[in-house]
Amino acid sequence: MPETLSPLPASVAPVFEAVLARSPHEPEFQQAVHEVLGSIAPVLDRHPQFVSAGVLPRLVEPERQIMFRVPWVDDAGTVHVNRGYRVQFSSVLGPYKGGLRFHPSVNLSIIKFLGFEQIFKNALTGQGIGGAKGGSDFTPHGRSDAEIMRFCQSFMSELWRHLGEHTDVPAGDIGVGAREVGYLFGTYRKITNRHESGMFTGKGVQWGGAEVRTEATGYGAVFFAEEMLRVHGDSLDGKRVAVSGSGNVAVYAIAKALQLGATPVTASDSSGYVVDDAGIDVDLLRQVKEIDRARISAYAAQRPSARFVEGARPWDVPVDVAIPAATQNELDEDDARALIGRGVRVVSEGANMPSTPGAVAAFQEAGVLFGPGKAANAGGVATSALEMSQNASRQRWSFDDSERKLRDIIADIHAAAFDAAERYDRPGDYVAGANIAGFERVAHAMLAQGV
Ligand code: GLU
Repeated sequence: MPETLSPLPASVAPVFEAVLARSPHEPEFQQAVHEVLGSIAPVLDRHPQFVSAGVLPRLVEPERQIMFRVPWVDDAGTVHVNRGYRVQFSSVLGPYKGGLRFHPSVNLSIIKFLGFEQIFKNALTGQGIGGAKGGSDFTPHGRSDAEIMRFCQSFMSELWRHLGEHTDVPAGDIGVGAREVGYLFGTYRKITNRHESGMFTGKGVQWGGAEVRTEATGYGAVFFAEEMLRVHGDSLDGKRVAVSGSGNVAVYAIAKALQLGATPVTASDSSGYVVDDAGIDVDLLRQVKEIDRARISAYAAQRPSARFVEGARPWDVPVDVAIPAATQNELDEDDARALIGRGVRVVSEGANMPSTPGAVAAFQEAGVLFGPGKAANAGGVATSALEMSQNASRQRWSFDDSERKLRDIIADIHAAAFDAAERYDRPGDYVAGANIAGFERVAHAMLAQGV
């Protein structure tokens, strides 16, 4: 059940009304806009020039929305047609930047919410990247390698004309990993006759990819949790952690939590979750999900300390820290209350908008340290920007050096969100802080560059 969105301050309510009128069937997009608008009303009070320059009405309308047909032929010779999307939301801070998602749930609302979030996330990194998102309602699950390749080729045979290292730089997201990035990049290279490394990030490290890009989103979400704890003189050492998901973000969040002395005890997929009091075995998890491409129950079947809970999400397990790293709206108000009842003190969002508005409010009321995705999962796109820097200068940085840079960027993002919350009398409110700090950077650039 979608939750009702609370009334907004009078200074921003008309902008939201306009979004509702123009995009009535886009609940995820409405939810994302509502959250940002709810935080930034006080910024407009202090900066009336943002209002007169029409910053908000401009910001909630994408610069460009591309929708296209993606026809492809399966192994049996049957023709399928999917829909492709690229929503280029804002290029005021740099070339459009954001991932591609291949998942049956993809629609315009999902891509617009993700693209809108990406504007502020990317601004928070301070690295000169605009906001965009794209993808398709294609279902990769159960498709052969050859089918995936043909789909990627068809998808890129249309999208290439809208991309470029100074124009729009995609990366992966759900359903788009190393394999898909390879096929997509290869198709662009053939069509354009340009080995343009900087037009895609998340590439293989042998052909222009950056060290730590694969690990970056999960590592970053853990670093963000560590930063929030550090402010309170604490650390992750000895903490029990619930992680949802079992894709790239979840796997590397689990790996980094283990390295920092915590015990990650859960992982999940759409069939249910596993709980492992001995701590998740990352190698086994990767074997099950990445190599065997099996259901998560196969993990419990091979691990005596683990059990599988069918059809549920890992939010009723006693933990100190939760890292939702699966997908949007995977943790609702009831889940939040269950986690609070079982002692959670820190939530760091590895996915984009995994907590519903009711869940966020419940965490904040209970005094839980809550790191919203646009700050806590910005390590992925931040490392994409590091990949673009390396591509532009034809350099290759070491793993350790790149991880240090990632850690510094997350510390800076944390500080920016923390400081903005203090400046606007919302101490400790990372939702407001991240929205305000990201918005300030975008709004000043929009003002400077004119209507
Ligand atoms: N899909 C990732 C995100 O949600 C990364 C995007 C990128 O690296 O461009 O931020």
